[in-house]
Amino acid sequence: MDLLNTLVDKGLRRELPTRDEALAVLATADDELLDVVAAAGKVRRHWFGRRVKLNYLINLKSGLCPEDCSYCSQRLGSKAEILKYTWLKPDEAAQAATAGVTGGAKRVCLVASGRGPTDRDVDRVSETIAAIKGEHGDVEVCACLGLLSDGQAGRLKDAGADAYNHNLNTSESTYKDICTTHDYADRVETVQQAQQAGLSACSGLIAGMGESDEDLVDVVFGLRGMDPDSVPVNFLIPFEGTPLAGEWNLTPQRCLRILAMVRFVCPDAEVRLAGGREVQLRSMQPLALHLANSIFLGDYLTSEGQAGKADLEMIADAGFEVEGADTTTLPEHRTDGLVSVRRRGAGTELPPNA
Ligand code: SF4
Repeated sequence: MDLLNTLVDKGLRRELPTRDEALAVLATADDELLDVVAAAGKVRRHWFGRRVKLNYLINLKSGLCPEDCSYCSQRLGSKAEILKYTWLKPDEAAQAATAGVTGGAKRVCLVASGRGPTDRDVDRVSETIAAIKGEHGDVEVCACLGLLSDGQAGRLKDAGADAYNHNLNTSESTYKDICTTHDYADRVETVQQAQQAGLSACSGLIAGMGESDEDLVDVVFGLRGMDPDSVPVNFLIPFEGTPLAGEWNLTPQRCLRILAMVRFVCPDAEVRLAGGREVQLRSMQPLALHLANSIFLGDYLTSEGQAGKADLEMIADAGFEVEGADTTTLPEHRTDGLVSVRRRGAGTELPPNA
């Protein structure tokens, strides 16, 4: 298939596909699905081999958010039955991190619900990062605290954070349909602040919210424009008690096409299989490892994932290996890039979608 040969060539050169090529991946027939996975798998193996990076989520603060993101079980007015609590103590978070690291996680993701942190919240998270790094010097720490105010990214960096996550979630044109309390530009700005402070940016999407193929291509091209180091791909979990309850729009085949499209557009980024993989990919999860090079181990923010043991068995059975602590996840040119961003500091060029 000419399309797939072209996309593999471009992926190996880190060349951006055209929008039409990305759309064509989403439009492939089920009969072509294994060819699509095999082609995107070549790009994945070129940049990341057969390694799978494990990440572990720690929900520092859960529920009671004033924002109204319609996909989220922690949103204002959510009737979803989730645990609600305020700020884990640093030693509690460090204990949770130990469970993740023992299970093979290289990165812990510290997540807090809410629009964004106060300066006091940044202090709390800084103490938590110190507690985790004190026990596990090698573990990468990513903070995910919402929209950042001036100076907060730099403070997190100084506290020892390696990365910051803030997802774009969906295209700029449909953002208003999933949230009215902040917009796409707010999210872009926070990712840029993290990059300018020298943090490794993590930003991704949620598929399955009723978006079109064009929306998916738009958000993934928006991400490529910002060039985050990691791109989590979430598949909607339609929580009861949220406006998107009952929105079961995905099939395992569509999830695989979406992951392949993300891999072709962001070939050398850590593509992470994130929330919803169990319920949306179901028995096709092992095929997704040919596209994504990173997964979350165990549970998600407000829902249970499959047991860590089952994840490790799936990785081994599919012929992949868990990435060790002594291996650098990203290709060399990306780690060099981080250093140069740090040197450039503020004033880094804006991405085309900003
Ligand atoms: S996604 Fe974040 S900001 Fe939006 S409602 Fe959920 S916790 Fe709040």
